Amino acid sequence: MNNQDIIQKLTTEHTAARDELIFLLDNLTDSDREALRKAAQATARTQFGNRIFIRGLIELSSVCKNDCYYCGLRRSNQNAVRYRLTPEQILSCCEQGYALGFRTFVLQGGEDGYFTDAVMTAIVRSIKQAYPDCAVTLSLGERGEASFQRLREAGADRYLLRHETADAAHYARLHPATMRAEERQRQLFALKRLGFQTGAGFMVGSPYQTTANLADDLLFLQRLQPQMCGIGPFIPHKDTPFRDRPAGSLELTLTLLSVIRLMHPQILLPATTALGTIHPKGREMGILHGANVVMPNLSPEEHRKDYSLYDNKICTGDEAAACIRCLAARMRGIGYQIVTDRGDYPDR
Ligand code: SAH
Ligand code: SF4
Repeated sequence: MNNQDIIQKLTTEHTAARDELIFLLDNLTDSDREALRKAAQATARTQFGNRIFIRGLIELSSVCKNDCYYCGLRRSNQNAVRYRLTPEQILSCCEQGYALGFRTFVLQGGEDGYFTDAVMTAIVRSIKQAYPDCAVTLSLGERGEASFQRLREAGADRYLLRHETADAAHYARLHPATMRAEERQRQLFALKRLGFQTGAGFMVGSPYQTTANLADDLLFLQRLQPQMCGIGPFIPHKDTPFRDRPAGSLELTLTLLSVIRLMHPQILLPATTALGTIHPKGREMGILHGANVVMPNLSPEEHRKDYSLYDNKICTGDEAAACIRCLAARMRGIGYQIVTDRGDYPDR
């Protein structure tokens, strides 16, 4: 076994065995990283050309009933400023976003009991009615299959629910006992069954993470076959139990983006805000390593800083129009182009 052969296998067969993934990640040289990067960028170019899909992120609530140890919105964080957007505010974000060329809106928030199925389905219906040519993506945590089905019937197209870590023991070290890896994974398979374009994903460098955990994350993605995958570095938040933990590494996050692109050539793969937070050119580097999506913020400016998952989050001061201009220029700078397009999974 050597890394060149493993990279070759990832590129042509889009798979690798668990021991091969562990060996690769444990023995990466600079030339391996560059070989992965080149192959992943070429794969993304074949699938998407130089087109980058944009998603308008609307952070609808900073209220959360969960207590994930890594997240600044966890319910035990007394310092968090809690807000929720009204349906009118959400619609007005979409209106602004539509004018700026967005054709996907991502409604993300903590698990906030205010957003019942009745409230949420009404919001989804009104967005789909006003903007029938747009996709609606939800990222609202574990709502359960019955709720997912109502949201799907209301017209939601996609759902993001990171699996966070596929390993149950590792998952238990990142979450209180009320949350379980098996349940998270069960809900992800339910989302796929219901016809959502489904997004899984994980943090790179989360506390206690091992290379074997990362290999298992990659193998979980192979089983689930999600249409989207969100990965970014773990970044500590000052008001959480993980405040003193180091952030995940830029290099490892980039390499994992490349591996995921090779294992899932058509997957919708964002260069995340977290990646842009740990390095000023993080999102550009993400694209050059095989990512094909960016998610500028459309949330009302007055609440941006209060959606604080981790410290030093970028783009909390800019208005939406400035945000998209900045990203468009960044993408042009590396030879890519932001497009006005729903950006569905290619086989749809
Ligand atoms: N409540 C929903 C959506 C909001 S959290 C949910 O949990 O799915 C969205 C994502 O932010 C989470 O899936 C997690 O992977 C990421 N996140 C939370 N805290 C983070 C941190 N400290 N560093 C990096 N990413 C974090
Ligand atoms: Fe809530 Fe999501 Fe943060 Fe967990 S990661 S505390 S579910 S907002």
